[in-house]
Amino acid sequence: MERVLDTAALLHWPQTKLTGGVCATSQRQELKRLSEGRLLLVEAMDLRWQDVPADWLARATATARETGDLPRLSDVDLDVLALALGLDADLVTDDYRLQNTYSHAGGTFTPVVNAASKAVWVWELRCTGCRDVTEVPEDVKRSKGQAASECRRCGSPMVVKRKRG
Ligand SMILES: [Zn+2]
Repeated sequence: MERVLDTAALLHWPQTKLTGGVCATSQRQELKRLSEGRLLLVEAMDLRWQDVPADWLARATATARETGDLPRLSDVDLDVLALALGLDADLVTDDYRLQNTYSHAGGTFTPVVNAASKAVWVWELRCTGCRDVTEVPEDVKRSKGQAASECRRCGSPMVVKRKRG
């Protein structure tokens, strides 16, 4: 299956994963605006830059209108969507509007940032008194919100909390 790459993928994916991918020619300008150095790098890779036929674009616009995502999609987004639809490709994007529209049309997508790593929660111990934060020891009670130990600084209860991003 061919793979259509959105601009975030062009920015963040390594060359090995980008090779052989398809991009809209309008993404060149967008990438240049975001990172000229990255554009130079990407242009040296083996990618296929493709103009979007008018009928593909019309189909993308109609699909995005159906799901209500159209007002929030940029021209470049629509080009990317149109390529994915026209080539029946896997769409590489983290944009949930593109994901939503493309899924609605029966397409498959791959996130740019690994979804599995995003879903891993990291926990820490936080003091309910002085707000001091420590790593969670291996043997600590995992029950969220309950006192797990005492603060080494002020003696208040420490609770297990999800670490802030
Ligand atoms: Zn404390």
